[in-house]
Amino acid sequence: MSDTIKNAVIEKLRQIKGPNLEGNIVSLGLVSDVFVSDGRVAFSITVPAERAQELEPLRQAAEKVVKEVDGVENAMVALTAERAPGGARNTPSRPAPSRPQRAPEEQAASKPGVPGIKHIIAVASGKGGVGKSTTTANLALAMAANGLKVGVLDADIYGPSVPRLFNVSGRPESVSGRVLKPLEGYGIKVMSMGFMVEEETPMIWRGPMVISALTQMLREVAWGDLDVLVVDMPPGTGDAQLTMAQQVPLAGAVIVSTPQDLALIDARKGLNMFKRVDVPVLGIIENMSYFLCPDCGSRHDIFGHGGARDEASRLGVPFLGEIPLLMKIRETSDAGTPIVVSDPEGTVAGIYKDIAAKVAGEVETAASSAERAAPQIVFD
Ligand code: ADP
Repeated sequence: MSDTIKNAVIEKLRQIKGPNLEGNIVSLGLVSDVFVSDGRVAFSITVPAERAQELEPLRQAAEKVVKEVDGVENAMVALTAERAPGGARNTPSRPAPSRPQRAPEEQAASKPGVPGIKHIIAVASGKGGVGKSTTTANLALAMAANGLKVGVLDADIYGPSVPRLFNVSGRPESVSGRVLKPLEGYGIKVMSMGFMVEEETPMIWRGPMVISALTQMLREVAWGDLDVLVVDMPPGTGDAQLTMAQQVPLAGAVIVSTPQDLALIDARKGLNMFKRVDVPVLGIIENMSYFLCPDCGSRHDIFGHGGARDEASRLGVPFLGEIPLLMKIRETSDAGTPIVVSDPEGTVAGIYKDIAAKVAGEVETAASSAERAAPQIVFD
């Protein structure tokens, strides 16, 4: 069924002329893989970076014709601005490789801020299972408890867990045209790859597809006024993560790591990744840092904690704090009531609030130095 729709979509797109009004976007090789799921169609069209704005009508025309295809309920079309080396595309029928090809100054120019959102920060980890999503949720809630207006964008394509953590489900409604209304949990606006794709299909959302979903979640969601939008990045430091980091106008990134050596090596990779895309690293958080005995309240450094603190000082990035390994953190997360909301006055909530305050401070510092260096962050 979805193959039939896909073929019909591609046929329909042959009606759309290329950017220079020659040929059509399909035969010119400008259309990425077309992804179809549950009546929703998503793809991107590659256009020269400098003409992206002027070619918005082309994007709209493509979206319009695709919506006319039988079985299509919604279409999500993004323009991908890609500059191949030497200005020529050598892989016409496939999306261009996701490896970054732009110089940092070009990236800055191609990443306009999102109106209404003051700062966007990423939470990243070198590998999965270190507690990145748990930290994202509690950090966002702690920032809100500290008085900030906060949103969470769950960009973890491999295992979007933010809906579960915030106990929200369902599909975001559209408010007008393409613009979606974010869901809300504990006063925090939430969007997730999990709302956009069926649970069994996330692996398909690679390359340009992920980027178009990310762009939509960033720019076509009624976020309203936010002090901070926290992005839960997919774990790892591969091309997919790098491309995503490159697409979002990030004020900075927070790296979550466990004390074990291996995780620390991975955290280092995370640092390097953000350096490559010119995003300041706001600091490292050590998660599952020490065991807090639930019965006696005493602390046991069973993993030789402190590795992240040492590593942070070696690398010259701020150390943001230590979060204990605590059954309560896991239980409350699994129940969709993260510890910062279920035990707001407890010790652990206090730890998250301290970290949240440090992160907010680092964001301000990074933003003001970026403003001095180059107008990289746009305030609307
Ligand atoms: P990631 O996003 O890095 O894959 P998760 O946030 O999903 O990791 O966490 C992995 C598992 O570890 C989850 O079951 C979560 O509840 C648990 N967890 C995370 N942080 C802690 C912690 N500090 N103490 C106890 N369990 C934790």
